[in-house]
Formats: sequence, C-alpha cells, structure tokens
Amino acid sequence: MSEDQTYASFLSSRREEILERIGASARRSGREPGQVEAIAVSKTVGPDEVLLARRAGWGRFGENRPQELVRKLEALSGEPEMTGVRFDMIGNLQKNKINQVIGRVSLIHSISSAHLAQAVSTRCEARGIVADVLLETNVSGEASKSGFSCEELRAAAESVVALPGIRVLGLMTMAPAGDPAAARRTFSGLRELAEELRARTGLPLETLSCGMSDDFEAAVEEGSTLVRLGRCVFDQGYALS
Ligand SMILES: *Cc1c(COP(=O)(O)O)cnc(C)c1O
Repeated sequence: MSEDQTYASFLSSRREEILERIGASARRSGREPGQVEAIAVSKTVGPDEVLLARRAGWGRFGENRPQELVRKLEALSGEPEMTGVRFDMIGNLQKNKINQVIGRVSLIHSISSAHLAQAVSTRCEARGIVADVLLETNVSGEASKSGFSCEELRAAAESVVALPGIRVLGLMTMAPAGDPAAARRTFSGLRELAEELRARTGLPLETLSCGMSDDFEAAVEEGSTLVRLGRCVFDQGYALS
C-alpha cells in the first residue's frame, strides 16, 4: 500500500472507532448518537489531509486561525468532493480578522467577550448576514483560558443574544488538560450554565461545544452536543485510551 492509502485507511477506521465511542457515551447520557456531532480539527494538517479525511467520511472541520482557515478554503475550493463541507472557527478571533471569517464559516465557537460579540454583530450587519455563534465560557476559571467568566456571561447574556448580526446557538468551553475530574466538572458546569441561561433568555441554546481528543467521552456523557477532535482524528501516533 502507498503511504496515502495507509493514511486513508487509518482515517476511516479511526473515524469508525470515534463514532462508536461517541454513540456509546451518548447512550450513557440517555441520548441518541445522532444528537452529538464531531468536528475534525484540521489545524495541524494541510489541505491534502483534509481531503483524505473528507473521503473517510468527515463532513465538518474546525480551524483555530483565520489565516489558515482562509488558506485551506482557497486550496480546496475547486474540489467537487468538498461541496457541502462545513468549516467552523474554533480559535481566538481578533477584531481585525473578523471580516476574513464571517460569511465563510458555519459556526464561530469562540465569541469570548461582549465586546467581540458586538464587533462581529456590527460587521455582519454591514454585510447583511447573520452569523451563527457560540459564547466561549471559562467555566474552569483558569487564568490561562479565554472566554466569558460565568458571572460575566450571566450579566451580559441578555444583551448579547439581542445583537442583530449574530444568532447565539449555545456555549463552548475548554476543559483543564490532564485532570479528568476537573474536565468532567467543567463539562457539567457548562451544561448547567446553559440551562440557567435558557430559562433566562428563552433561547434554546442547544449547542454545547466541549470535549477534545483526551476527554470527549466524558464530555458527551455530561451533555456535549459538539466535540472538537484534532489529534485523535489525524495523528496515527495518538492512541485512544
Ligand atoms: C486544537 C483544538 C482542539 C482539538 O484538540 P485535540 O486535543 O487535538 O483534540 C479543540 N478545540 C480547540 C479550540 C483547539 O484549538
């Protein structure tokens, strides 16, 4: 087999295994496997690997840097197989990069402040579009993490969801690395916060974006609807635990 064929068969068998685990975790939380979606985070691979992943069945990708997102979209724009494929923005978004991203991505996971929400809304309004977004929340309270604090979010939620250029579909969080118990508390904290905000805003806030390679099964058990998977999808050296 050529290197490409070996990698392609890794991508599809790994995808099967990931989807099986997500399905089992969803059932453990009393949900159907179809209620949880997985995004392949392609930030560490090039357009060729994205295309191979597409052929392996992945239909939604995540990128954390606007420039890299644009580069990949352009490199893949002529590929008929990429028709209908979605790209999400999952990383830190600076204000001067907003225009590169809006209109191009299916969902922005990383609206990390009321100020950024306002800026995205204003730029979308100017273009006559509405962007689907998630509010990134620093549930664990680690100083190194960006996002609304839970308190900030409680205070800002009503004004943010009223912004005309964005549609808030839910919340996103990053869990502490290397501490499974803390990660699990972070995921359940996100779900509880969403429940509280649902009651307050009347919005469904159905999307909970949490869980990465190391902790996606716990995230799904705690209510995640959208897991963001990088290493476990693309890295042949990554062993699923
Ligand atoms: C890289 C990244 C991921 C994926 O992380 P893995 O541990 O490789 O699965 C998920 N979310 C964000 C925001 C990322 O930057």
